[in-house]
Amino acid sequence: MSGLLTLELLDSGHCVVPEWQVMRGTSRRPLHCHALVALINHPHHGWILFDSGYAPRLLEVLRHWPFRIYHYLTPLRLQPELAIVTQLAARGISPEMISTLIISHFHLDHIAGLHDFPAARLVADRAALDYAPQLQGMAALRRGLIPTLLPPDLDQRALPTDRLPRGPELPHLGPTYDLFGDGSILLVSLPGHARGQLGALLTSSEGTLLLAADGAWTSRAIRELRPPTRLTNLMADDPRAVEETLARLRAFAESRPDVRILPTHCPEVYAGWLSR
Ligand SMILES: [Zn+2]
Ligand SMILES: [Zn+2]
Repeated sequence: MSGLLTLELLDSGHCVVPEWQVMRGTSRRPLHCHALVALINHPHHGWILFDSGYAPRLLEVLRHWPFRIYHYLTPLRLQPELAIVTQLAARGISPEMISTLIISHFHLDHIAGLHDFPAARLVADRAALDYAPQLQGMAALRRGLIPTLLPPDLDQRALPTDRLPRGPELPHLGPTYDLFGDGSILLVSLPGHARGQLGALLTSSEGTLLLAADGAWTSRAIRELRPPTRLTNLMADDPRAVEETLARLRAFAESRPDVRILPTHCPEVYAGWLSR
């Protein structure tokens, strides 16, 4: 189909967590949480990324106190060849060809690759853009953020969602921002997990897709309404809103069965898309 977005999901690496930590009432089985990045091509606006994933620089950054605590709590499995910038090079896409990078939220597994895309406009929620740069040291770590992963010119390149035209309301998820004014990418707030978290509804050649970021850890969490444990929620911006967003995603799934919902770390999404 021409005239529609195309989309590819790329794996940037993974961590291993016990299933019960991210889905209440489940087993102690280890869950491989891949950090997926969406590479999108828009027929008029070119190459776009939704998040930038893990990147090898994270291993260096995590050697320093207090951020090394993160490494102990969540052992990471990173390989240099999985860096998004490296995977793009293999597709003939240079970093400068990424015109727009949507930051779902500022957790390190979503922004570690930001430095690799110096020419991209950085689209994020206003609340996230205001909040993330203020955090330092332990306060940053408690919110899953490492200040050195933020580009020094974040202010100049940032495009806050409130400068975008309004899109249609989505059932149960509410108002949207229309990134290109053509309805192809609608950004929607998914509050709770991180300040100003965004999802993106895409009208693509693969059908209508909702990139749900960490609004839910897994597709199963949406189907069975299983929020993370209270322990995991200690890092959340607003634990009550985490549960509300999960319930809204389920209600949205029921009212829009045509939409495939893709949480960033879902093993089913990883298995279904990356084995094709
Ligand atoms: Zn997150
Ligand atoms: Zn994440």
